[in-house]
Amino acid sequence: MKIVYLLLVMVPLFSCKVHRQNRNDSNEIVKDVPLGDSVIHLVKGDGIKDNYLLMNVHENEQTAIHAMVRGSMKYSIPYVYLHHTRQRRIVFSSSDNTYSIDPNRIYTLNGCIKTLKDSMTFSKDGLELTHALAEQITEELKDKQWLIAMHNNTDGKYSILSYQDGGEEAQNATDLYINPKEDSDDFVYTTNRPLFDFLKLQKINVVLQSKESFVDDGSMSVYCELNKIQYANIETQHGHLSKQLQLLAVIVKFFEL
Ligand SMILES: [Zn+2]
Repeated sequence: MKIVYLLLVMVPLFSCKVHRQNRNDSNEIVKDVPLGDSVIHLVKGDGIKDNYLLMNVHENEQTAIHAMVRGSMKYSIPYVYLHHTRQRRIVFSSSDNTYSIDPNRIYTLNGCIKTLKDSMTFSKDGLELTHALAEQITEELKDKQWLIAMHNNTDGKYSILSYQDGGEEAQNATDLYINPKEDSDDFVYTTNRPLFDFLKLQKINVVLQSKESFVDDGSMSVYCELNKIQYANIETQHGHLSKQLQLLAVIVKFFEL
C-alpha cells in the first residue's frame, strides 16, 4: 500500500521534469521548454547526417528558417529552431517581473547577464530561467561536430563590413575576405580555418573568428569555440533565400571533401 502511494506521488513529480515532445503536422518533433509563464517550442527535423546540426534562434528571420528546412531535406542534416512569437527577442514573465532576452546572447554567464541588463529587468530569478533555457538549447549540440547557424540581417546595417578595422565587430575577427562584387550583407562567419580558406578561394565573403580576442557576448559562436564544436553562420539579408541556400551548398561541399 505504501509503495503504491509513493508511486502515485513520485510519478507526477518525475513527469514534471520531462519536457513534452510531440510531432507536428510537418512531422517535426516539438520539444516544449517552459520559461517562466511562457513556453518555448524547440522545433526539430531529423536527418541522417547527425554529426551536423542546422540552427536558427531568431524567429523573425523567416528566410533563414525556410533555407534551413529546405537544406535539411536536401542534405539530410538535422535542424532545430525556436518557435515562440516570431520576434527576434524572447519576452517572458515570472514572479511579476517581465524579462526580454536575445536568444543568441544566452550561452555563457556573461551573455545571460548582459542581455537581461540591456533590457527591462535583471534579477537572479530571470538569470536562472535564462540559463536553464540555454541549457535546453545547447543540449541539442551534444555529440555534434559542426553547428551551421542561419541568420538574416537588414540591408546596410550589420554586415561583413562590420568586421573591418575600426568596425563594431573588428575585435572578433582574425581574418577577413571581402569580395567587392558581392552584397556585403551576405557572408559566412566561421571558427574553422580550413572552411575560411575554402570559401575565400571561391571568392565568398567570409570572416574567421579570432581564437584569442573574441568578445564573450554569449552568442552561439562563442559557445562553440569554448566547447570545441566547429561553427559556421550563414548570414544573408532578409529575403535572400537562394543566396542562403547557395552558401549552404558550398559548405556541404566542403564537408564532403
Ligand atoms: Zn539572427
